[in-house]
Amino acid sequence: MHTKTPITVAYGDGIGPEIMQATLDVIMAGGAQLDLDIIDIGEKVYLSGEVAGIQPSSWDSLRRTKVFLKAPITTPQGGGFKSLNVTTRTTLGLYANVRPCVSYDPFIRTKHPGMNVIIVRENEEDVYGGIEYRQTQQMAECLRLISRPGTERIVRFAFEYARRNNRKKVTCFAKDNIMKITDGLFHRIFDEIAGQYADLEHEFWIVDIGAAKLADTPQAFDVVVLPNLYGDILSDVAAQIAGSVGLAGSANIGDMCSMFEAIHGSAPRRAGQNVANPSGLMQGAILMLVHIGQSDVASRVQNAWLKTIEDGIHTYDIYKEGVSRQKVGTKEFAAAVIARLGQQPGTLPAAHYAAADEWKAPPLERPRSERKVMVGVDVYVEWNDGKPQDLGSRLRQVGGATLELDTIFNRGTIVWPSGLPETFCTDHWRARFLATNGKALEHGDIVTLLTKVNDAGFDCIKTENLYTFDGVPGYSSAEAQ
Ligand code: NAD
Repeated sequence: MHTKTPITVAYGDGIGPEIMQATLDVIMAGGAQLDLDIIDIGEKVYLSGEVAGIQPSSWDSLRRTKVFLKAPITTPQGGGFKSLNVTTRTTLGLYANVRPCVSYDPFIRTKHPGMNVIIVRENEEDVYGGIEYRQTQQMAECLRLISRPGTERIVRFAFEYARRNNRKKVTCFAKDNIMKITDGLFHRIFDEIAGQYADLEHEFWIVDIGAAKLADTPQAFDVVVLPNLYGDILSDVAAQIAGSVGLAGSANIGDMCSMFEAIHGSAPRRAGQNVANPSGLMQGAILMLVHIGQSDVASRVQNAWLKTIEDGIHTYDIYKEGVSRQKVGTKEFAAAVIARLGQQPGTLPAAHYAAADEWKAPPLERPRSERKVMVGVDVYVEWNDGKPQDLGSRLRQVGGATLELDTIFNRGTIVWPSGLPETFCTDHWRARFLATNGKALEHGDIVTLLTKVNDAGFDCIKTENLYTFDGVPGYSSAEAQ
């Protein structure tokens, strides 16, 4: 008998309350030992003026229980509201998003029989910081952040997950042929960490062709680890091609806290009709039970759920004439699962989750700090008064003994000193100044340059310092464009 684990529960919006009740009924009947702390999140809270959709007092519950079972919420239309999911993930340090995408053929129609892929998505970095700027009349910018510790944590998590769950292979997707520094770091760390898991196969795919292969032949993949944005998109693709987004759950795991949910939304048009499929949230709850050490309960509930699916007792979204036997509502589906507790599936593989999942991330490696030298600066200006040659001759005069104009780019393409008249230019220019004779620069040198840029009448919208690390450029080089 387990001791009771305190968890925080939110019933959410739309179909949320119905599927949460069904899920709790099933896992409690399955023997889950839980002490529930109920909090309000979502539409009501947003509309009461909390821009993140959660009351400040609810964080106390989450910090106390450290485990969050969450139903979907409705994000109100209109601007000004922050994504509750992004806020919860980053505030509680939930760096790993784990989404099993499994097909249940022949009982649920799928184009990919035998699919069983675990998507491990980095959950905190990439473009999700929401660091965006409008810089000129024509240009907007979004910053994409990829860190060494963030990448190490997610990649190691993926390999550990694969090892603990008897998986054979870990695949990484990224686009380092284009984003050589950010995705290049992700790929390099993947290779470094893969070297420490000789018992597991590993492979790397450029994300575009990897995504095509995943959609076409998902059986070729086992565990897939990705940066946040690719993971966001491809985990939905993977869930959908497995059968239905209505069937998948996901776990958001951190070193101290965790959150479990269905992957679908609050389906407001289906709310209050007792028709929604509670399976996605049940799958989330099963991942939670494994995580908190109640693996025996997780296996019992999962096997009863599989048996219900095999018996053709299906909600409207997965009901198919000739395959399904009985179309049921949310409550009846939950009752059917409860009635099968203790039974095993006949055809689908039965679940035997391992005992308590004790893994804690090892301390991050601290690589030797490299010698960082400032060797130049990219100065961004808004300018709409002529051709690149005109801008080049004016900005060349701004340089001096310390910093020289080297290159001008427009949207990443070199337009000065070389360039073609065919290249389309916007009002957003990046002028690269490099230290004369490769000398190390000081910040004062850049301040002096910016004063001159300003005095020459330019609207400088931002600067980006150029550094080398142990002599290796830490910026995309002009030659690589
Ligand atoms: P949705 O996932 O709610 O619905 C998409 C479609 O799937 C609908 O046709 C719906 O009827 C069906 N569907 C979804 N879940 C189902 C279930 N359990 N059983 C049966 N059918 C189901 O996506 P949406 O309509 O784009 O979004 C609705 C709201 O949900 C929006 O406010 C959105 O912001 C929010 N949302 C919340 C979360 C979350 O809380 N994690 C995630 C996604 C969307």
